[in-house]
Amino acid sequence: NKQIVLKNYVNGFPKESDLILNASATISLKLPEGSKAVLVKNLYLSCDPYMRGRMSESKGSYVDSFTPGSPIAGFGVAKVLDSGHSNFKKGDLVWGLTGWEEYSIINSLETLFKIQDTDVPLSYYTGILGMPGMTAYAGFYEICAPKKGEYVFVSAASGAVGQLVGQFAKLSGCYVVGSAGTKEKVDLLKNKFGFDEAFNYKEEQDLEAALKRYFPNGIDIYFENVGGKMLEAVLSNMRFNGRISACGMISQYNLEQGEGVRNLVNIVTKSVRMQGFIVSNYFHMYPKFMEMVMPLIKEGKICYIEDVAEGLESGPAALVGLFSGRNVGKQVVVVARE
Ligand code: NDP
Repeated sequence: NKQIVLKNYVNGFPKESDLILNASATISLKLPEGSKAVLVKNLYLSCDPYMRGRMSESKGSYVDSFTPGSPIAGFGVAKVLDSGHSNFKKGDLVWGLTGWEEYSIINSLETLFKIQDTDVPLSYYTGILGMPGMTAYAGFYEICAPKKGEYVFVSAASGAVGQLVGQFAKLSGCYVVGSAGTKEKVDLLKNKFGFDEAFNYKEEQDLEAALKRYFPNGIDIYFENVGGKMLEAVLSNMRFNGRISACGMISQYNLEQGEGVRNLVNIVTKSVRMQGFIVSNYFHMYPKFMEMVMPLIKEGKICYIEDVAEGLESGPAALVGLFSGRNVGKQVVVVARE
């Protein structure tokens, strides 16, 4: 049972060598008598920025740290090989929290969902139909309550969550601009995902001025994925009664101490509402989300780009690549295709 193991707790930027391949572990492909767990073969693993927090020694984060020497865990798509629980049976396809290894025994079944619809690529259940999709849905519709004609800005816009937020914003009749870190990503935003405008934030000397250029009348909704300097620039470009969905702040995840934020006073003077959220608190809305998103995919009204790394061995580079923007779209690792 090949596994990806955390070597030791990480400080600063994670490196590929912080994660190592253990090729010598073994596992029985039958559950012990009386087990209530589910034994799965892992197919697709999801690389997600929040996993960086789990690579640090616990600082009272909302998720537990990984254990050095043990395989890391995350969201994935898997096939059930044996089940001690009546909700799952051999042959079922599932998505949810699993291990970064070929085979896993899953004990926490509250974050394991049966896949009903296999007319779409299975890997979509790590992205558009999985945790990032739910994040875009909850963070945009529930937190921002968008209205037709509003001005929307999305950062890390070509990523797993951002590409969907932009498309949701267009479907809601909003004007939407995205930022991303390369020309290739900016082109995708404009030509593939239908953003009205997009820019490469790395090429802008003055982010405040860049936003003023794209939003001469200000921003109604900011979908926050990055934090730091971008948040400061957004704050001084917000409109009256604006909303900020604080989804993530990836620019802060590798810092020993988070940066302070300038321009916060705009929250007062412009009556801005900024709200953070954790997607797992919205998983009860998953059926409603699927009802909306599945037809959109099948009718070709929404698209999704994945960056697929082949083989469990490629997992470490794929995961740490999120923090240098190496991924173009949702970063997935293929362990096996069936
Ligand atoms: P992405 O697929 O967008 O991958 C991360 C991207 O972030 C990179 O490709 C890179 O793109 C960008 N990035 C990396 N470092 C920086 C930096 N220092 N400054 C600016 N941009 C940077 O990831 P996801 O879509 O999965 O996640 C997006 C955000 O949503 C993250 O902050 C994540 O933590 C958050 N999240 C929150 C959840 C919640 O429950 N609240 C659930 C899921 C995700 P680029 O080339 O454009 O720089």
